[in-house]
Amino acid sequence: MINLISKHKCCKKVQPESPLPFTKLFLPRILTKGSPISIQIVFLLLTKSSFPEAFNPINNAFTTQPMEFSTYSFSTKKVLLRVDFNVPIDKVTFEILDDKRIKAALPTINHIINHNGIPILLSHFGRPKNGPENQFSLIHIVSRLEELIQKPIIFCKNLEEAERRGKDVCPGEVMLLENVRFYPEETQGDLAFAERLASLGDCYVNDAFGSAHRAHASTTQIALHFPTDKMMGFLMAEELACANKILQNPQKPFTAIVGGAKVSDKVLIIENLLNIASDIIIGGGMAYTFVYAQGGSVGSSLLEKDKVDVALSILHKAKEKGVNIHLPQDSIAASSFLEHTETSIVPTHSIPYNWMGLDIGPESIARFCDVVSKSKTILWNGPMGVFEWERFELGTKSLAFALAEATEKGSFTLVGGGDSASAIAKFKLSHRVSHVSTGGGALLELFEGKELPGIKALT
Ligand code: AMP
Repeated sequence: MINLISKHKCCKKVQPESPLPFTKLFLPRILTKGSPISIQIVFLLLTKSSFPEAFNPINNAFTTQPMEFSTYSFSTKKVLLRVDFNVPIDKVTFEILDDKRIKAALPTINHIINHNGIPILLSHFGRPKNGPENQFSLIHIVSRLEELIQKPIIFCKNLEEAERRGKDVCPGEVMLLENVRFYPEETQGDLAFAERLASLGDCYVNDAFGSAHRAHASTTQIALHFPTDKMMGFLMAEELACANKILQNPQKPFTAIVGGAKVSDKVLIIENLLNIASDIIIGGGMAYTFVYAQGGSVGSSLLEKDKVDVALSILHKAKEKGVNIHLPQDSIAASSFLEHTETSIVPTHSIPYNWMGLDIGPESIARFCDVVSKSKTILWNGPMGVFEWERFELGTKSLAFALAEATEKGSFTLVGGGDSASAIAKFKLSHRVSHVSTGGGALLELFEGKELPGIKALT
């Protein structure tokens, strides 16, 4: 709770290190060993046909066709596989709290193993500041990974050990290098460090969508050493195919739900969405800056006064483009930023002095859910309120259920970025939407129209 309070006070976006999103892996899952070949071929055709278009309009990232992971010959090759094993762990017991990111990488790891390749796994883990630190060691995930792939892992504590032991690894073995961020050169995108990493393998596969927006040595510079033998894994491909489904040609009506704490974090994504969405629902703390911009009184709700002009400009552009913007007309207001404080349902435009909106109210829930139920494509980024506290979770929870119901009726639903993936996991609905992205920042940047260095590097 202390975290939440300080987060609210400074209106600061906190990087979610926990609970991590769950990726529905329907397509990759069918690709593991033993899948009927016909299913695999259907998958290849689907992905092949969607790839070339997937990237050009976003950022022209793929000017050349990337190497196809499914057909590449891995036999006896040492495969440098960048994964995202940045899972939440208990800070005292080091127990993994959510292993979904590890599971999400399994189809790619297993494909390499089943094709006689030797995966050499590279990952970051948390944000170490000054070199090795036990709490950020990948040693804590080794036994879980061994259970999942049913093989012992050769864990190398540093690059020297990896260079030494890497010489003798054989098909059937799997090697994991300690947290690449124990080397400051990783985040600096250091070329010499990238070269050292590259020398460990014969080819490079990037499956770390969650890190694709980082120009780090193991996500970007390393690829320079593999002019042709570089490609994306199944997870990365699935993430891009899902984003592409919305960015390219979303089935209309397309509704984007944008929430969370700060307008400033979401300006670019909203401006980009104005070009493709039919409706944009704005909830969470960021909604109050829009309401204030329209002349409303928002009490002590989250407010970015320096973003009032931006909010007005977004509302203006939406009108010009014929995009419906939906703001909450009522809120659950609280007398203080505490879970068990006094609350009241109030019109969002007239929140009493010193009270703050911490969730959307019942009328807003009904209206937002109605918009969602009529949509064919839905993108959700950011919660509707302080969903971490049960008393302020209803708005987020109701929309999560509305998304699940829309999915069951055939709509395409993509959840990711900010805390919305944690929220949908909290309500145990991850398996009832089309896709929950493993990428927070990466997904956001993709929808902002930015080029992702980790993807560009594979071209
Ligand atoms: P983001 O990381 O931008 O998606 O923001 C997520 C955070 O916004 C969560 O921790 C929520 O508790 C917080 N949040 C959502 N709505 C509000 C609100 N009305 N007031 C304060 N914080 C909020």
